[in-house]
This record gives sequence, structure tokens and C-alpha cells, in this order.
Amino acid sequence: MQNWHIDYHSPHRGLTFEVQELLYTERSMYQEIKIVQTPEFGKVMLLDGVLMLTEADEFVYHEMLCHPSLITHPNPQKVLIIGGGDCGTLNRVLEHPGVQQVVQVEIDEMVTRVSKLYFPALTAATKDPRAELIFADGIAYLKQQESTFDVILVDSTDPVGPAEGLFRQEFLADCHKALKDDGILCLQCESPWIASLQPVIQQVNRDLHQLFPIVAPYTAAIQTYQAGLWMFQLASKQYNPLAVDAKERFYARKLNCKYYNAPLHNAAFALPQFVLELF
Ligand code: SAM
Repeated sequence: MQNWHIDYHSPHRGLTFEVQELLYTERSMYQEIKIVQTPEFGKVMLLDGVLMLTEADEFVYHEMLCHPSLITHPNPQKVLIIGGGDCGTLNRVLEHPGVQQVVQVEIDEMVTRVSKLYFPALTAATKDPRAELIFADGIAYLKQQESTFDVILVDSTDPVGPAEGLFRQEFLADCHKALKDDGILCLQCESPWIASLQPVIQQVNRDLHQLFPIVAPYTAAIQTYQAGLWMFQLASKQYNPLAVDAKERFYARKLNCKYYNAPLHNAAFALPQFVLELF
């Protein structure tokens, strides 16, 4: 008999996929980590039963969390990632040749340890001398930082448990303080289709507007994430993502992408009407 996993997106809906083999399961101090082999998506990581990444489409989320902000910044040198233990985002940040240092603050060391075993193509980035991995709570880490980073990327789990505070105003204000005068913040911001998450998306947007002169939400189509449409919110102290020559920077930096490209840089910020109406 076939074995199926349901990734619940609400109590009433979810994504169902076949599981061929349970490759790994362990409970860390923070969450239950599972790696399963699937015929359709390759290896899949689940944290507390929630799908985090699949070999087949991780590129969409990771490219779209990283590149719009790094391309908007003319010279991103020092980048901070909060969360992101699988290292897919780190991987993409390091593709930008001007980046000199990337600090990644992940609360759960086991996520990175397990990713090294099952997603070595992503964690290869940890060997880059520009990468510094810190295993600590991103909320506490940011309180100590001031005018340090060109770009901060928040690659978090959903707003429950240790990640809940990563969607709060106090944390967003700490990000603002930790950015240089022309810094850019971008956070993953859940699916606009899921009614219970819409207030979180709206509140983050209001909080960002209180802090930054430029706030630009955008979306990406991610087949395995909740309802297939994912939201990000970019907030910038100086640079407008729609006023930069994305094409020139994209080719100059020789990015190796499967989803993001220069026309999409602009297109991603054009929101469907129902998403626009959230704001
Ligand atoms: N792509 C994913 C998604 O949106 O489904 C996110 C994946 S990444 C593995 C999320 C990481 O954020 C997890 O490894 C989790 O341990 C980490 N995390 C959650 N709360 C955190 C916090 N307060 N500080 C640092 N890392 C945190």
C-alpha cells in the first residue's frame, strides 16, 4: 500500500504527496525534523510535519528570498540571514561576487547538521570562507547589532513557536537598527491565500511602513508551499527595487538562476488584486 503525507495548509486543506521512504527522523530541542524520499519532489524536509523544502523546487523560494534584495542593493557586501538552516538562501547570497561576509543565525543546529547529510548541494556553501554560521536565537542576536548589515534576509518557519517573534514589530525595528543607512530587509511572509495568515501579512506590512520609507511586497509561485502562492516583503531605507537596472546587475553578477531573472524582478512586485487589497 502506498504511503502518503498530508502537509496541512489549514484544518481543511493541504498538499498530499506519496512518500517512498522515511530517511531520517529526530526531535531536536525546537522541533521534529523529518527527511522523506518522494517520487515527485525528491528528498523533502519536514519540520513539525510542515514542508520546508523539496529538492525539486527549493530554487524558487531561495532565489526569490535572496535575489530581489541583493540586486536592489548596488553593492551588498555584508549580509545577515536569520533562520535558513538548510543553507539554500546562503548558497544564493554567496553567488553575488561583491559579498564579503554572510552571517547566518539559525536557532536549531540540528537542521543544518541534517541538511549536510541530505541536501549537500545546498550546504556546500558552508565551506565558503565568507560564510559564518552562528547557532542562536535570531531575535536575541539582532538586539546586539547596530548599522552593520547591507541586507538582512529572514528565512524563517511559520509564525509559531520560536519563529513567532520574527514577525513582530520589535524584531522588525531591531532589523532596521542593524541595517546600514542604505540597508534592505526582506522576510518570507507566508501565503496570501491562507485566511488565518492574512492578518500577519497585514500587520508586518503596517509595521514595516512605520520603519522604512520603501516597502514592497512581492510574490512567487511555489508549487509545494501553502496554496502555491508565496509572499515576501522587502523594506528598504534608500533603494527602490523598481528603480534599479535589474538586467544590468543580473548579467554583471553572473547569477545562476532557474526562477528569478531580470524581467521577473519587476514583474514579481505586480500584485494580484486580491493581494493588493490586503494592504
Ligand atoms: N523555506 C522554509 C519555509 O518557509 O518553509 C524556511 C526553512 S528554514 C529551514 C527555517 C528555519 O528557521 C528553521 O531551520 C528554524 O529552526 C529557523 N528558526 C525559527 N525560529 C528562529 C529564530 N527565532 N532564530 C533563528 N532561527 C529560527
